[in-house]
Amino acid sequence: MAKILLVEDNELNRDMLLRRLERRGYQVVVAVDGGEGLAMARSEAPDLILMDMSLPVLNGWEAARQLKTASETQAIPIIALTAHAMVGDRKKAIEAGCDDYDTKPIEFPQLLEKIEALLSKEASPILTRI
Ligand code: MN
Repeated sequence: MAKILLVEDNELNRDMLLRRLERRGYQVVVAVDGGEGLAMARSEAPDLILMDMSLPVLNGWEAARQLKTASETQAIPIIALTAHAMVGDRKKAIEAGCDDYDTKPIEFPQLLEKIEALLSKEASPILTRI
């Protein structure tokens, strides 16, 4: 099963997502700020990253930008979690290199669809050959 790196500073959101992802069978590793998220993306080599944008130490936009410009992490899909349904936040997330985004409060079934879509894209032999 896929390994997901969850980068989220809010304890309630983090615990909720961790529990629900693990229940779906995902292996989940957790980081609580952008700096730790960056370090764990390198050390854990996750299949996908769920990244809150509003994070201490290093915000999610900057962490995503650094991950997408480093050769060892640029292929890892990132789903940005933005606190508000603000057009500017979503635009910034895509510009930072995030592959998709979802807005809080998280509707888990919808987030799960986005996770599964990105993971199946990764796993597709046709797409990975390109
Ligand atoms: Mn946050």
